[in-house]
Amino acid sequence: MLITHDTRCALDTVVDLVNTAPDDEQAVDGLADVAALGEFVRRNDISDVGVLTERDLDGVQSVRGRFAAVFAAPDPHAAASLINELVAAAGTTPRLTDHDGYDWHVHYFAPGASVADHLAADCGMALAFFVVAGEQERLRRCEAPDCRRAFVDLSRNRSRRYCDSRTCGNRLHVAAYRARRKEAAG
Ligand SMILES: [Zn+2]
Ligand SMILES: [Zn+2]
Repeated sequence: MLITHDTRCALDTVVDLVNTAPDDEQAVDGLADVAALGEFVRRNDISDVGVLTERDLDGVQSVRGRFAAVFAAPDPHAAASLINELVAAAGTTPRLTDHDGYDWHVHYFAPGASVADHLAADCGMALAFFVVAGEQERLRRCEAPDCRRAFVDLSRNRSRRYCDSRTCGNRLHVAAYRARRKEAAG
């Protein structure tokens, strides 16, 4: 499937968003306060965001939970209805833009949308294209037992199993290697 630059950015953003959620009571919430939300907006280069408030934080945390559900969806039907709800609640105004020197692409968020609605509309549409392309299974969770971070598998043969093969995949290979050595020694 063809993934344009802006879709790629929206995918990176939604993966980052879902992975800011604490995975158990001990873990820290990556979006604990408005300052953290500001940092999230900056590092993902989200355009047209005004002054952020507590209300934005609540909205983004709620949208984050709904995107997490999309990554956990067992099949395209489940993913489709979750995405439909997200995008419908945000309200969309598709329009072509070439802002900041990017090639022509479509923004879906309505003018003046809150950052939560902006994310729901544009990241929701980026995920929608995967369902349309029959590629919903590329929206995954890392298979490392203590990780479960969300990622989008863009490998040609859909073979990616870990969020970051240099850390999670490697860590598991080392564990398997040690287990084999122990077995051989015993
Ligand atoms: Zn744009
Ligand atoms: Zn991982």
